[in-house]
Amino acid sequence: MADTPNTASTQPSAVPDPASLCPLCGTANRCAISAGANPSSCWCMQTAIAPAALAQASAMRTAGTPASQCLCPTCGAVTDTSSK
Ligand SMILES: [Zn+2]
Repeated sequence: MADTPNTASTQPSAVPDPASLCPLCGTANRCAISAGANPSSCWCMQTAIAPAALAQASAMRTAGTPASQCLCPTCGAVTDTSSK
């Protein structure tokens, strides 16, 4: 017969910390600071962040968004737009 499956697995849905997500694309920004690692080991210390991406991120930042939200390596990459 239909015995009710006892699904009482109330497992807390792992909501990612907004500070660990890229404000532009929403993927993990792999920030060492939000991961609890040494800030000097963060990828952004070795890679230059595109000023345009930073400006876009700050423009998208709304009330309630943590100001310490970092970009992901993809969005922060400097795209060499050869302007003439
Ligand atoms: Zn991104």
